[in-house]
Amino acid sequence: MKHILAGLKQIGVEGRDLNGILVTHEHSDHITSVGAISRKYNIPVYANEQTWQAMESKLGRIGAGNRRIFYNDMDFYIQDINVQPYQIPHDAADPVGFSFYYKNKKISITTDLGHTNKKIIKNVMDSDLLILEANHDENMLMTGPYPAYLKKRIRGRKGHLSNEDTGRALLEIIKGKVTHVLLAHLSKENNYPQLAYQTVADILMENGVQPGKDIQIDLTYRDRASNFYQLG
Ligand SMILES: [Zn+2]
Ligand SMILES: [Zn+2]
Repeated sequence: MKHILAGLKQIGVEGRDLNGILVTHEHSDHITSVGAISRKYNIPVYANEQTWQAMESKLGRIGAGNRRIFYNDMDFYIQDINVQPYQIPHDAADPVGFSFYYKNKKISITTDLGHTNKKIIKNVMDSDLLILEANHDENMLMTGPYPAYLKKRIRGRKGHLSNEDTGRALLEIIKGKVTHVLLAHLSKENNYPQLAYQTVADILMENGVQPGKDIQIDLTYRDRASNFYQLG
């Protein structure tokens, strides 16, 4: 909560200004402090039914009016922002990514997915800005400290995208209109920002795409806010 509120403050937003908290899935790195922030500022929490069931006991008490349910592939509004949740392959109850539409702009966020598929690529490729997972370096993961079962889980079809996976997915995605991509959900043990950037940039360049010219690639960080983007 402290980190989220500090990050928001940097762009002039207070906790009480929030209109909703959207939950992609119930893993602890995504729901820690959801309950606390909702209670502190009386903010609605949005998740699909199965995610609610899986996370409810961990959130603590959520006011009845703040328990909001959405359905995958059915868009809804939070004030004047249109939100579209779409299913992603990950080992959680019913994980989703989100696209946000406001005026003629679109932002998509897709992290925590073991692989991409045509439907996901098609959905994110017409975003103006895309936040996409680049979770781990494949070599660092394999030679790193994680136990074998966890390595297998992360590499699996419902695990996480590697830097290499993300680079290859971007080769498809950049055929759409996306101009900015932020690499996200970088593993602390199995990745670091410069490596994620370089691996993705190398794959793009090997295929004739110039990062910085054909597409802007930026990073997000575990311990601080990313750059601030204003669209339009
Ligand atoms: Zn997860
Ligand atoms: Zn996660």
